[in-house]
Amino acid sequence: MAVCSRRTGFFFALLLPVFLFLSLPPQAAEGMDSAISRYEAVRIPFYEEDGTLAAAVRRFQRDGEERLLILDPKRFAFREMSATRLSALRRADEAAWRQTPFSAALARQTAPPYPLQNDGLRRSELPVAGFFLTADLCPAKKPLDRGFLEATAALPLTAPIPVALPVTGLWIEKHPEDLAWIEAQVAAQRLTITWVNHSYTHFYDPDLPLEKNFLLRPHTDFRDEALRLERLLLEKGLLPSPFFRFPGLVSDQGLIEQLRELCLIPLGADAWLAKGEAPRPGSVILVHGNGNEPEGIRLLLAFYESRQASFARGETTLLPLRDAFLPQ
Ligand SMILES: [Zn+2]
Repeated sequence: MAVCSRRTGFFFALLLPVFLFLSLPPQAAEGMDSAISRYEAVRIPFYEEDGTLAAAVRRFQRDGEERLLILDPKRFAFREMSATRLSALRRADEAAWRQTPFSAALARQTAPPYPLQNDGLRRSELPVAGFFLTADLCPAKKPLDRGFLEATAALPLTAPIPVALPVTGLWIEKHPEDLAWIEAQVAAQRLTITWVNHSYTHFYDPDLPLEKNFLLRPHTDFRDEALRLERLLLEKGLLPSPFFRFPGLVSDQGLIEQLRELCLIPLGADAWLAKGEAPRPGSVILVHGNGNEPEGIRLLLAFYESRQASFARGETTLLPLRDAFLPQ
């Protein structure tokens, strides 16, 4: 018996860590991440307690609680809210929602014609004295090009300096240290990041024509590509934004209409630096921050150098995307 019980004790000692691990909730087993399930698009316009109009645009479960993503139609930004709060608030009708600055901008930026390339916001809708920097994080083996973000943070501008980062799920999966480094820059108030949806997988085949490439690849589940990326950002503790950059800047009428349903504004560019397009005031500047386009980064640093004095004098600046739609 003694031998038997010692053996039993021995097996329990071996299995105890396994039992402990299996009994942990999923988010604890994965570290800091918080698991999200049942992520879906909704559209519920409502009035806040102070009478301002907003809309719930996503619903999901986080740690067993029903949560919502709320779109602020003046700030062009999302925030997270408990779903139980919504039941106490007054609903707004669709007509009122359509008159908000965000909804009107979404309608303009998703209107025909539907060019195959570079649809959506390419430059500011209003005259502005600044530029909109966007740096794509398409899937890549190379590390983040931290140098251009360091150079941006070092510009003689009021911190934190706004940068839009169109990001893919595959880039986030492969670059946890770079993501943590970006978050550290934000925590240090050096940069403020708008996380732009750049799809989850960013399919690309250099041998396919554009009409069948990127998100136009036959049988692509576009909605899933967009929503999965948002869900991953939220699981990482990052807030998505209501902006979307199409991989390859390639889209068609069907994709743009689906994007409008998801309340996401398409983001093109009129200054893709590596293609030789020079920025003008109001330009959406496009570079790649994923290490795959060093020429674009070189041109961005040269652009910074050429504007150093006017940045320092406050004549020009880098602007958040919202400023392309609303007077400041
Ligand atoms: Zn890309």
